[in-house]
Amino acid sequence: MNAPVAPVDLRSDTVTKPSPEMRAVMARAAVGDDVIDVDPTVQELEELAAHLTGMEAALFVPSGCMANLIAQMVHVRRGDEVLVGQDAHIVLHEVGSGAALAGVQYEVVPGDGRITAAEVAARIKAPTFHTPGTGLVWVENPHTGRTTAAEEMRRIAAVCRERGVPLHLDGARVFNASVALGLPVRELTAPADSVSFCLSKGLGAPVGSMVCGTRAFRTAAHRFRKMLGGGMRQAGILAAAGLYALAKNVDRLADDHRRARRLAERLEGAPGLAVRPADVETNMVIAELAHENPDAFADRCAARGVQFFSHGPRHVRLVTHLDLDDAALERGAQVIRESLGAD
Ligand SMILES: *Cc1c(COP(=O)(O)O)cnc(C)c1O
Repeated sequence: MNAPVAPVDLRSDTVTKPSPEMRAVMARAAVGDDVIDVDPTVQELEELAAHLTGMEAALFVPSGCMANLIAQMVHVRRGDEVLVGQDAHIVLHEVGSGAALAGVQYEVVPGDGRITAAEVAARIKAPTFHTPGTGLVWVENPHTGRTTAAEEMRRIAAVCRERGVPLHLDGARVFNASVALGLPVRELTAPADSVSFCLSKGLGAPVGSMVCGTRAFRTAAHRFRKMLGGGMRQAGILAAAGLYALAKNVDRLADDHRRARRLAERLEGAPGLAVRPADVETNMVIAELAHENPDAFADRCAARGVQFFSHGPRHVRLVTHLDLDDAALERGAQVIRESLGAD
């Protein structure tokens, strides 16, 4: 009998599971009650996150969605606008929490999701008696796997400073961007007033995100975390996984990027599929289907053991990660090609 073949999971880098080594450091972590006092391991993680991002302080939160919501609550007056690129995670994938709970509205810059300093300069609005003003400028880097350069980030920050509007970086996968661009992550994060990033995606921790900014930002963020029910007691067990992830799983993101590029190259030229390997900068491949509905195509491949999600009405998204080796990648590419009638 053949051994059952494990599914090839290209749905997201959030599917990564803590390794035995990560679980061992979690089991040994020093802990305290992080709500009433401090947890030493959470404190260590917060200090490291602040140091890496070039911020004064950081706060450990349960999710990237909470990090982003807290940043909006701290920076924006109710009714004000957040200036943000098209298809940003806060606009599409956070259940409308910015509107429902922070009272913001979004001014969306059309395009591929990456905004430029020129667009920010043209669209920042001062409040008038009749109109909301821009309360916050929001950059997502990377956005759907594509990066914004450090130089552009600095130019955007300069515009924001000049106009007196704070700048937040949704850096859920900013370590992927830093590895892809060959820069310390601080180069991408430090120009912003605050930054959020996820430990639970390609970095491989089971739970947790960081939101970083000035000391005053952290003080305000800490109250909102409590208000949102995000205070966690002996959270050092989770923070230990984050510390492990930042020590061991950053440089290896280059492997995920290499595999994503390889996957795009294997799929290039398959009938009915358009994919550009040169567009693959980090760990995501976006491919356009000419004839088939992407959900139907994803279902057909899932039935053959290769999982991924649709991405809008015509595209599919394939994500590489820590728990996917070269053999799994080749199997995934082969099943997708065969499902399109190639080979
Ligand atoms: C995943 C993601 C988030 C939210 O993170 P969760 O931990 O899933 O809540 C925010 N922004 C971006 C760009 C993301 O990819």
